Amino acid sequence: MRKCVKCQNKAVVYLPQHRLSLCKEHYMEWYARRVEATIREFRMFSKKDRVLVAVSGGKDSLALWHVLHRLGYRADGLYINLGIDEYSERSKLLCDKFAKDRDLVLHVVELKREVASIPEIKQVEKRPACSFCGQLKRYYMNKYARLLGYHVIATGHNLDDESATLLSNVLSWNMEYLSRQFPVLEEREGFVRKVKPLCKFTEKENALYAFLAGIEYVEEECPFAEGASSIEHKMILNQVEEKSPGTKLRFYMDFLRRMHPLLSSEEVSLVPCRVCGEPTTAEVCSVCRLRERLSPKPLSSSASS
Ligand SMILES: [Zn+2]
Ligand SMILES: [Zn+2]
Repeated sequence: MRKCVKCQNKAVVYLPQHRLSLCKEHYMEWYARRVEATIREFRMFSKKDRVLVAVSGGKDSLALWHVLHRLGYRADGLYINLGIDEYSERSKLLCDKFAKDRDLVLHVVELKREVASIPEIKQVEKRPACSFCGQLKRYYMNKYARLLGYHVIATGHNLDDESATLLSNVLSWNMEYLSRQFPVLEEREGFVRKVKPLCKFTEKENALYAFLAGIEYVEEECPFAEGASSIEHKMILNQVEEKSPGTKLRFYMDFLRRMHPLLSSEEVSLVPCRVCGEPTTAEVCSVCRLRERLSPKPLSSSASS
């Protein structure tokens, strides 16, 4: 039996990459301290800032909201209802319940009311669902964070997500994406600051925290998630991690510390979208172009004369 290194009680977890055995109480404490340290390390936000946590109903984002609340941050939630049948209904229910049980504020954006649901968009879009879904989520997250007066948007991206993205960006040497891959994206012209306080935690570590904290979360994957290449990259990294624990964290952190500062941070200039006013690099933003494809304007009557 492994013993907790802090109190000698029975350990509930052994973290090979940190060579650490911990009991329930000390795991919860270790997790919270490490989140706090990550927030400080990257100067993400302070106790004065109003933080909007983007919650999906999954373990990562709810663990994040839980721990921020526990640490005394001013954190509210934002749920974007994608309208994916029972999957979305159940996710929304669990986010609602999480907020109510803890007396927290949850904002809900109904994608169906804003544009159309993901299944509806899927019928007119040729791109993979994850591609336009991600785009829409970023758009509405930013729009509502700004309208509701939040200083920062926090997302539940974990180390598995970040290291898989890094691997894929390195394999294609996508310098533009690499230069933007950082746990803090500063505020600029219409964009609210975005942060990833769980970037140093594995999926498993977040799941364990959520479980020990008694959080109910959706376990099933989104039914629209296609055999994305990110799953393959995660598998490869997990294989390496198993042989030499700590590789994932080292790969990601060494990139941030040693490689990222060398990349040029040339930023494309932003302009307000001609249609909706949200910041974009084109004349009309991608969400407005999508909206146009969903409901093409009828030809003007003069054309038929
Ligand atoms: Zn202990
Ligand atoms: Zn627009």
